[in-house]
Amino acid sequence: MAILKKREIDVLAQMTGDERERFVESLPAQKDQIEALFDFLEMKLETNDCDHTSRFAMQHMMQNSLNFPKLSAWLSQNGGYCDCKVISEIAETWHEVFDEE
Ligand SMILES: [Zn+2]
Repeated sequence: MAILKKREIDVLAQMTGDERERFVESLPAQKDQIEALFDFLEMKLETNDCDHTSRFAMQHMMQNSLNFPKLSAWLSQNGGYCDCKVISEIAETWHEVFDEE
């Protein structure tokens, strides 16, 4: 049987409180920094079409001195290949999980 590596974001909803804490600790940036990135992208994409690159994510990471290589690798692993995918593949699930806390 083939073993597919599950995306972290897909298992996030099933995690217990402890697992979620470990998940947050393993992130390539602080949780609030990642949420600020989501907010920035949501704001940008309200008035701009995604050109299917990560230009706004890149802009935000540079402006905020985030660990660009690590964070963009994490986003890609979780399906966030471009700015709109970061929102549709990651931020929506993220908000469902963390906004209820
Ligand atoms: Zn896109």
